[in-house]
Amino acid sequence: MTTIGVLALQGDFGEHQTVLRRLGVDAPPVRTPDGLRGLDGLIIPGGESTTFCRLMQDFNLYEPLRAVTRAGLPVWGTCAGLIVLAQRVSDLEFPTLEALDITARRNAYGRQVDSFEADVSISALQEASRPFHAVFIRAPVVDDTGAGVEVLASLPEGSGPAAGSPIAVRQGPLLATSFHPELTDDDRFHGYFLELVRQQGRRSSPK
Ligand code: GLN
Repeated sequence: MTTIGVLALQGDFGEHQTVLRRLGVDAPPVRTPDGLRGLDGLIIPGGESTTFCRLMQDFNLYEPLRAVTRAGLPVWGTCAGLIVLAQRVSDLEFPTLEALDITARRNAYGRQVDSFEADVSISALQEASRPFHAVFIRAPVVDDTGAGVEVLASLPEGSGPAAGSPIAVRQGPLLATSFHPELTDDDRFHGYFLELVRQQGRRSSPK
């Protein structure tokens, strides 16, 4: 059985676990360095990135998470999870995992649009002609992506000042979305991550 750990220090990890289990995947919560053993992939959920970064230190997870990420474990960050994975964040006082070659800006869609939803087309997904309903909650803006980063989806034209900015990116085994697929009943993005995990076919450490 495929095992995808969900970082469960804070945030909406339960929603990710529900989707993964619906897809027939083992989805243990990760709260300790030991919890990183034997995983095929890891999800860092939405929540509050400052809290995540502080708790990663308090739970002695910061170095182990950096190590598995560097070793090539597939990791997907949603919203705050995107910030935690980013190499550069313009306004964060804690170190991130500095893995994904992007620059993120927190809460950058502006007060008036704290939360919004948009139908986006994502060609990497199954049934790509069917738009994906993306839910954004105090989402980060991705200001810059490095050469090795593939943009899987951008905010559609006509959706305000940030139109055209990347909202789903991938760099090898690393995936990040500024929206929350776990808050919808459309499982295609989780299915895409599972595909990525199966393609990588590697484990963080032996079971
Ligand atoms: N605004 C949060 C942060 O900066 C992210 C919000 C979310 O994950 N929904 O970490």
